[in-house]
Amino acid sequence: MTTQKKKVPREAGRALPLQAPRGTQDILPSEQKYWEYVIETAKQVLRGWDWQRLDTPLFEETSLFTVGVGEDTDIVAKELFELKTRGGGAAYSLRPEGTAAVVRAYIEHGMRSWPKPVKLYYVGPFFRYDRPQAGRYRQLHQFGMEVFGSAAPITDVEVIYVAHTLLAQLGLEDYVFHINSLGVPADRKAYVKVLKEHYRRNRTKLCRDCKERLKTNPLRLLDCKEEKCQQVAKGAPRLLDSLSDEARSNFERVVAMLEELGVPHEIRGSLVRGLDYYNGTVWEVFPKSQEPASQAALGGGGRYDGLIKRLGGKDTPALGAAFGVERIVSRLKEEGIELTAFDGPRVFVAQLGDAAKMTALRVMRSLQEAQIHFAESIDREGMQPQLKLASRLGASWVVIIGQKEVLDKTVILRNVVSGMQEVVPQESLAQELSKRLDLP
Ligand code: AMP
Repeated sequence: MTTQKKKVPREAGRALPLQAPRGTQDILPSEQKYWEYVIETAKQVLRGWDWQRLDTPLFEETSLFTVGVGEDTDIVAKELFELKTRGGGAAYSLRPEGTAAVVRAYIEHGMRSWPKPVKLYYVGPFFRYDRPQAGRYRQLHQFGMEVFGSAAPITDVEVIYVAHTLLAQLGLEDYVFHINSLGVPADRKAYVKVLKEHYRRNRTKLCRDCKERLKTNPLRLLDCKEEKCQQVAKGAPRLLDSLSDEARSNFERVVAMLEELGVPHEIRGSLVRGLDYYNGTVWEVFPKSQEPASQAALGGGGRYDGLIKRLGGKDTPALGAAFGVERIVSRLKEEGIELTAFDGPRVFVAQLGDAAKMTALRVMRSLQEAQIHFAESIDREGMQPQLKLASRLGASWVVIIGQKEVLDKTVILRNVVSGMQEVVPQESLAQELSKRLDLP
């Protein structure tokens, strides 16, 4: 990503930006096939496993995030895109993550009375005012899945197993799930106390951010990437060692089931996830062949049993996961996964003269209705430029409409490779082309 902004000369007293805002990107037509592939595969897998789609607004009242995600978490304390609105009233922010809003909608729409478990998924853009770098955007895209109403470890396993299925279906091979348990809230509370003691003893060795975290969000001390802080983390007590019996036994069952299902995984005692609402099993999935830097995670998830109550609903166990589309798209490229779908137009519609242009519009409508991908240049005059364009676009068939074809209600169908031409009634063109293109 380029960080320098190009400006054009001043216009009406203001320089106009010539680049997308820092930390955002245009998804160009040539990239769309990757995006569509990832999003369509995610939808297909999630729908197939009976997750239902939920769309929530791109912005919410800020308090949903301060209360739901946590005031001292990075994405709220440092990265929230707060909106400046006209007049007074509620304060709004662009959503930095999906779960808090899904929980808000779950409570608002009384989904507690729906058959359990309630399984919801979402896809869309999210916003974090982070320092942009490779793999870290200010507008990022996620798809995510949530499950409400199950406290059983098998449901944790189901979510991870579906995530694994999805990544495998995309064709990815080089990934591993890092898993950990944050225990029940009491475990976490007791652990934070001993953790703080350890870090206080080593305070002088910490980076500035960690000195702050010690006060605001001690669990995050463990995943600081600074070398000197990692040294302190190495000597820290492990949360896994101080789990209550129930939390430990749940976690052991999760691990055993993942083993049995062949899900690639490793236990990572330092994995804490950034947000306040997690408890129990938490996980992140990383490329196996790379060091697990925080900007490399493809997705992550975990339990958040306390969140529904915290946001005003009835106590309900829940868990979920979210994946970064940008990260998955770049992994597909890094793993050299070829998308075989031919995404160029296979047919070009060429015309000669005004009457033929009108017929061409009707013909194109019939092709579109038959889902035949065509290209055209309806405003162009002359056959040669149109044929040239057809070959530049890689079309294998050209439909030619001239005066004669308008009168005869036919078209000329030309095979670009062999140069052979035939006359086909306009009425049956879509059907004939479908046969030749091997479409269903
Ligand atoms: P999180 O809930 O923060 O772990 O986010 C879930 C997933 O979204 C991560 O595993 C990443 O794949 C992706 N993600 C998070 N933040 C960003 C970002 N700033 N830019 C791009 N992708 C991101």
